[in-house]
Amino acid sequence: MTLAVHNLTQRIGRATILADISVEVRPGEILGLLGPNGAGKSTLLGALAGDFKPTAGRASLDGQDLARIDALARARRRAVMRQHGASAFDFTVREIVELGRSPWVGRSAIADDRRAVARALALTDVERFADRAMGTLSGGERQRAQFARALAQLDAPPSEVSAQRYLLLDEPTSSLDLSHQHALLAAVRRLAAEGPGVCVVLHDLNLAARYCDRVLVLHQGRAHAMGTPLEVMTPATLGPVYDVRFTSVQAGNATMLAVVG
Ligand code: ADP
Ligand code: MG
Repeated sequence: MTLAVHNLTQRIGRATILADISVEVRPGEILGLLGPNGAGKSTLLGALAGDFKPTAGRASLDGQDLARIDALARARRRAVMRQHGASAFDFTVREIVELGRSPWVGRSAIADDRRAVARALALTDVERFADRAMGTLSGGERQRAQFARALAQLDAPPSEVSAQRYLLLDEPTSSLDLSHQHALLAAVRRLAAEGPGVCVVLHDLNLAARYCDRVLVLHQGRAHAMGTPLEVMTPATLGPVYDVRFTSVQAGNATMLAVVG
């Protein structure tokens, strides 16, 4: 019961974007994808989402080839928040979140849809501007609305809750203030505790260390390191990847990485 890629290679023209990557997203865990710009994080998330047929290797959901699962069935098993989500500036926040319910049309009672939308709006702190157009929101508010859409999509009706679900998030905190960054990841943590597996691309290493169960570090399309944050997020492992000098800093009972050069 996992969402996984197996020996996945993705080439575009002559460029190898991902080289022989194998990783699984396990039920109930938060797997972080780390790495510098261009490392292949969004491409790997897209492969896990089933966006494209890989050049080599495969992506699977509970052992079944992702490419063989039709788009609607896929949409009921995993929600994706993309790095550059469709703008849809004229839609209200509520309409965007309601779009998350579209894979459930005909399978979910209207009352369940309403509950799912209301829950997602409340969890992401966007209720106050639910009836405003996306185009009138700040970047961070818009990002929270997109997160709410993904949560609404993942909220399965009672008859379908037994299937394992996954949430794929591409830099979901990039426009958020500090308190909303933590609120979003705390909401992800609570969601994972209920069963869904989560894969999240993060740039903030300290957020990754605090919220991820495991991290995969990508570097130039290759898996550079994989393990718990404690194992992987060391100055020696991450320094060469980000091309900076890190030092470990003790802050309370947390170890954080600071850039020193
Ligand atoms: P990341 O999310 O880690 O910043 P991406 O997965 O978006 O990286 O991209 C990895 C690399 O693949 C980048 O160098 C990017 O320019 C390249 N790339 C992605 N998509 C395409 C494409 N459609 N055509 C050409 N190059 C691409
Ligand atoms: Mg990216």
